[in-house]
Amino acid sequence: MTDPVCIQLDLQHNDRQVIQVRQCWSPTSRRLSFQLPVWTPGSYTVRDHVQHLHSLGLLSGTNPVAVKRTGPSAWSADLPDLTPLTLTYCLEARDLTVRTCYVDSSFASLCMAAVAMHVDDQRWHPHHLQVLAPEPWNVHVPLERGTDGWLASDFDALVDSPLHAGEFDLEGFEVEGHRHDLLLIGTPPGGWPDQLSSDVASVCSGVCRLMGTAPPAGDRYQLVIQMLEQGYGGLEHDHSAVLQFNWQALAKPDGRRQLLQLVGHEYLHQWNVRRLRPVEYRPYDYARPVVSEGLWFAEGITSYFDLATTLIAGFSDRSTFLKDLGQELSRVLMTPGRSLQSLSDSAKEAWVKLYKATPASRDSQVSYYGLGAATAFCLDVRLRQADSSLAEVLRELWFSHGPQGRGYSRQHIHVALDGHTPALAAELTTWLDQPASLPLKAVVADLGLRLDSVPTDRPHHGLTLKDEQGQVLVKRVASDGPGADSALVPGDELLAVNGYRLRRAADLALLLQSRSAACITYVRRGRLAETHLNPDKGVDHWLLDWDPGANADQRALRDRWFQIL
Ligand SMILES: [Zn+2]
Repeated sequence: MTDPVCIQLDLQHNDRQVIQVRQCWSPTSRRLSFQLPVWTPGSYTVRDHVQHLHSLGLLSGTNPVAVKRTGPSAWSADLPDLTPLTLTYCLEARDLTVRTCYVDSSFASLCMAAVAMHVDDQRWHPHHLQVLAPEPWNVHVPLERGTDGWLASDFDALVDSPLHAGEFDLEGFEVEGHRHDLLLIGTPPGGWPDQLSSDVASVCSGVCRLMGTAPPAGDRYQLVIQMLEQGYGGLEHDHSAVLQFNWQALAKPDGRRQLLQLVGHEYLHQWNVRRLRPVEYRPYDYARPVVSEGLWFAEGITSYFDLATTLIAGFSDRSTFLKDLGQELSRVLMTPGRSLQSLSDSAKEAWVKLYKATPASRDSQVSYYGLGAATAFCLDVRLRQADSSLAEVLRELWFSHGPQGRGYSRQHIHVALDGHTPALAAELTTWLDQPASLPLKAVVADLGLRLDSVPTDRPHHGLTLKDEQGQVLVKRVASDGPGADSALVPGDELLAVNGYRLRRAADLALLLQSRSAACITYVRRGRLAETHLNPDKGVDHWLLDWDPGANADQRALRDRWFQIL
């Protein structure tokens, strides 16, 4: 039996927001190299977790060993012999997101990709985790429990296991006969929704029906919901998902449904993207960005089905599903960047674009989440026309790749589609590689539905503004709006409209109201200037709705499509 790598986390300096890490192992070679991952699987951008690390030291037995920094996140050392090693370092933990680390006097939320050191010759060895937590905290990790800690089968299993410590509400729920844990962190002002754990269980069971299997995680699954003042997102793991939601969103009429859709999204990732994974991520390379166009499938298909999870679970109806899907399609259609960036490029450029997006990014890029969901919708309808479904294709890909741990590529998706409707594989190539190639309107019409633009009810200027320290600043000039014909660019400070002082961003529409052409006074780099803005009647959003004139064939196809599974 191989000696495990022992990693001990000391959270007892939580009031200083520092984690002390102690990692011990027996080297197999005198030439040692180790690195801290530069990114977190599931979040495809370089996060340089090493920026939070300090006080690193290495002992061989009790003797200090000189280490050499070979890269921003990498070290090496020449060892005198193969005596067991102890590596120690500290991590500042002040970043409360699902892919980073945070600790304070009340709780800890750790993403282990930002914590554990990857030692080259130890990756596939078991890793033993111990945690020193302040009293009376409990520690939650979705790993096998041992007598004095937790055991991960290898480094990958360790970094895939988020750690939460504190005093939390812990509830159990059951999915297809498997017991899962629900960890609730941060009670919202109005309290947690009634029957949350049974609603979560229904959504998760619906996802199992979609995939045609019991949960691959079995009895070891932890769903963590952090309810914050601000924040939204999730990160998927083999045996867990960590969700962040905010109580303002939860208090809205659609809040509970959106929270359950986020649960459905992350739970479906247990199959799609975790175990059914793009070939480029088998195995993960934690040391550098790895480009994969498969992210459109991983996130787009999951985003499409997450809208349906509340319908499958019986928490919403067909009209609500249309509303949710319509909002997703509207966001895509309102993104001018979809005419410049293809879906496959959007996925491949995730590392440098999606995760670094600004408001102005919408004019040159499109999210593979939204466009991927729209593409999934088109695929599903085309497959329904061939008496099949996207759910069926997803299940086939799962059974041919997931349980075996085989990565998939575009070719495998083509082969899966080919078995149902050969023309669709060729069509998908166009949808993936050609910007703005998705036949959304035609697909919607085939279902006896309508997708119509809804005009704005105020003068449309195409500017996105923000109030900052008493200034009104331009955040975005939409490339398809009237602002694009003015001289304005992001960063300009707007001072006046037709000589009237503009003090708040919200007042721009008011000042534009009575005139068609307006003179805008603005400041750029400390200099005053003027430009003209000609508001028009723009599109506010797109609406997906029933077509009262739908014929029998369209209604029959629509009924089949609404079955989802
Ligand atoms: Zn996702």
